[in-house]
Formats: sequence, structure tokens, C-alpha cells
Amino acid sequence: MKFEPQQYKIADERMKPFIDAEEIWDFINNANTEKKEVRKIIAKAINKERLNLAEVASLVQTTDKELIEEIKQGAIDLKKKVYGNRIVLFAPLYVGNLCANNCEYCGFKASNKEAKRVTLSDKQLIENVEALEDNGHKRLILVYGEHKKYSPEAIADNVRTVYKVKKGNGEIRRVNINAAPLDIEGFRTIKDAGIGTYQVFQETYNPEAYKVYHTSGKKSDFVNRLTSLDRAQEAELDDVGIGALFGLYDWRYEVLGLVRHANHLEACYNVGPHTISFPRIQESLDSKVTDEYIVSDDDFTKLVAILRLAVPYTGLILTARETQEIRKEVLQFGCSQIDAGTKIEMGAYADDAKEEEKEKQKLDSEQFLIGDERSLADVIDELVETDYIPSFCTACYRKGRTGEHFMEFSVPGFIKKFCTPNAILTLSEYIEDYARPETKQAAWDLIERNLSEVEPKLRGIVEERIEKVKQGERDLYF
Ligand code: SF4
Ligand code: SF4
Repeated sequence: MKFEPQQYKIADERMKPFIDAEEIWDFINNANTEKKEVRKIIAKAINKERLNLAEVASLVQTTDKELIEEIKQGAIDLKKKVYGNRIVLFAPLYVGNLCANNCEYCGFKASNKEAKRVTLSDKQLIENVEALEDNGHKRLILVYGEHKKYSPEAIADNVRTVYKVKKGNGEIRRVNINAAPLDIEGFRTIKDAGIGTYQVFQETYNPEAYKVYHTSGKKSDFVNRLTSLDRAQEAELDDVGIGALFGLYDWRYEVLGLVRHANHLEACYNVGPHTISFPRIQESLDSKVTDEYIVSDDDFTKLVAILRLAVPYTGLILTARETQEIRKEVLQFGCSQIDAGTKIEMGAYADDAKEEEKEKQKLDSEQFLIGDERSLADVIDELVETDYIPSFCTACYRKGRTGEHFMEFSVPGFIKKFCTPNAILTLSEYIEDYARPETKQAAWDLIERNLSEVEPKLRGIVEERIEKVKQGERDLYF
């Protein structure tokens, strides 16, 4: 069915819906998948040129095994050429799971009477943040259901509270938000509290599928959600994250939807999304999702590589919904951020008893099942072993370098000047304050190897700063 934008009364041209399902299917159904064409598209992406929807359609329609390997290799090459080897780490913190919506795939939906509803008090919030700081985290994303209790003012208060929590050498230096779409005034309120990125995932970019899964509540309004990040831009909150929940609809369509959304923000506001997330649907309590659109591991790895090529200037977030094995494989395609030590049971970071019990996840108090339950320390060990630099860097946001992924992509030497030195310095802090004894030497060796990747003029300064970190100074960044 054709989606008719004009049926929605939206005054501002830029806030009109920009997704046309028929057009996206036309691109997919008429894609050119000849070897020569696909290779030309891969080469174009490696050359750091943006891909149009027809080109992305060619990649998603490619089924030739040899070409799929070339797409993946292209993503690996692009990653090596553009992004260094640092992986930025963060943790999600679920603040409240009250929800007035009924998303059929979510354990927190309003109709699910078995779900335990919790909103962290200030005290619980502080305890959880302290627990995350004790592990070494510096970046959080606060996650909320959609409920009147989670007003912009309440979220802004939480953000201010989190920034004030300092335990030992611990502090949270960047707070991102994943919450309901807001109006322009609401986005302003949140921006004033000093957030990093505001994420709103469209879940599915197909309006008909959207209707099936979002049966009531404000979230059932496809366009209100689709245009929410335009409102954020109007509120001058230009650091936004988009995402699709893979498994609700055809993955090829969703990849084109994400690219269309990124292009729309870029065209209208001169700044694309800071990040793209691509969670795959997982088991949840009372889920009504069929397996018709389930995304296989093969298709998932392929789609991540395609996204890397299609939007090379946007950060890709890979979450702990995926298993350790899939995360390891997909990291090489250029994901720049991952969560680690993730707990999605409400308040679980601070709950020592639960930690000791270490029982199975409990679906009555979690949104879905996660695939990678390792601790932050375990994830760091694996990153160090596989030659990635675990990074807790928050420098761009604090230096006012907005559109950071665009800069990282387009400013010559950005990685050597900023990302690698900051990754080294934040890892040095982690080694001094939180690392297990057996991790320390391997991590210092990794730093030693990576000093040669720092811009030569800066190398001496970075070495001096490492010494300062060893002597107790913190939060040194470029
Ligand atoms: Fe509520 Fe979000 Fe779950 Fe939908 S996905 S039911 S909005 S918590
Ligand atoms: Fe991200 Fe900027 Fe730090 Fe690089 S320097 S890791 S782009 S915050």
C-alpha cells in the first residue's frame, strides 16, 4: 500500500514524513546486482563517497556468495581506512519501565500485567550509577518506557543527578537518552541538562507493519515517531540516534529505511544521525511476533557490513542483545560503540544479591533477553586480546566538537589526533583504577603498540599524560 504523506497535517515541510514504502520496494525490486555494478558500489563506498538508495538496494539484493564476501571485506577495508581500532564502551541503565504503549514485541507493554513495574528512585539511581562507576564506566544511556511520569523535566533531573555522582575516581562524563519522542520544548529541556545523544528508534520503517506491532498508545502514531528527531533538530538538539528493530519486517527494506532517514536528516539539517542501532528482536514475555521476518546470522552480518558501506560517516552501535560470537564477528565491519557489562533488569547494577545469585535473566522484569552477559572486565579482556583499544572517550561532546562521527570521517588525521590519544588515556585510567591484575600488563602492552598510531607531534604529550594518570591525575583529553 502506498503511504500518503499528505494525509498528515504537518506545517513544516521538513517534518513531513519522508518514507514512501512503495518507492523503497521499487528500489529493491529493480536493483542491479551485476558483479560489475556491485563492485563499483563497494569501491565507491571505500572511497568515502555516500551511497544512494539504488546502490544500497543493489547491495541488499546481492546473493552471490563471492560478492557478499567482497561486501564484508569492503566494510573491513573502509573501517581500517577511516576509523582506527578503538571501540567506545557504554552501559544502558533502565530507569523506568512504566509504559502506556503496547508494542507487541516488548515485555514492558501496558497490557502485560505480569511485568514488574519499577521506576528507580533518586537513591536507587545513584546506587546504580555508583555501581557502574565502580566497574569503570564513563558513558551511560538512560532508558525509559513511554509514560507521563517520564516527563522531560523528570528525565532532565535524572541526567543532572547522574552527572553529580562521583565515587572514588569514578564519574559519568556523558549521558545519552533512549526515551519517547518529545515535542520541541521537551527536547530543549533535555538538551539544557547536557545530554549527549537522544535516541528514538523507528522500530520498523514500514507503516503497515508498524500498525500491526504498535496497537495503542502514543507510539501507534507512525509519523509522530518518524518526525521526532526533526523536532529535536528544531530544538537544536542535533546529536541524535536512529535505529530499527530487525525481525519485525523485511530486513532489506529496513536497511533502506535507515539510510533514507539518515539522508533526510543530513539534507534538512546538515547533520546526519550520530549513531545507527540495529538490534535484532529477541525473546520477551508475551511477545506476539512471528518468525516470518527473523534475521539469520548470515543476513545480520551482511546487513551490518552494508550499513557500514552505506553510511560510512555514522557511528554503528552493536548491543549485548547479540551473542559474544556475533559481536566479535561484526565488530570488524566498523561498529564503533558497544555496551558491556549490560544488565537490563531494573536496578540490577546495584543489587549485589542478584549478582551473587547470578541466576538466569528474569523476563518479568526485563524488556527482552540479552545474548552477551559478560562483565565489562571480560569484554575489555577480549578487546585487548583482539587488538582493539577499549575507549571511554567523551572528548568531542565536551569540547563542543559536534557531528563527531562526521568529523572523524572527514577531517584528515582525526583518529590519530583525537580518538587514539583519548582511547589510550581513558584506557590508562581504567588500568590504574579498575583493571584486573591479569589485564593490566596486556593493556599496557596494547597502549605501547598503539602509541605509534598517535600523530607524531602529539606522541610525547600523550606519554607525559600517561605518566600523569599513573600519578593520579584524571580526565585528560584532546
Ligand atoms: Fe513501551 Fe518501549 Fe516497550 Fe514499546 S518498546 S512497550 S514503548 S517500553
Ligand atoms: Fe568519539 Fe570524539 Fe572520542 Fe573520537 S575523540 S572517540 S569521535 S568522542
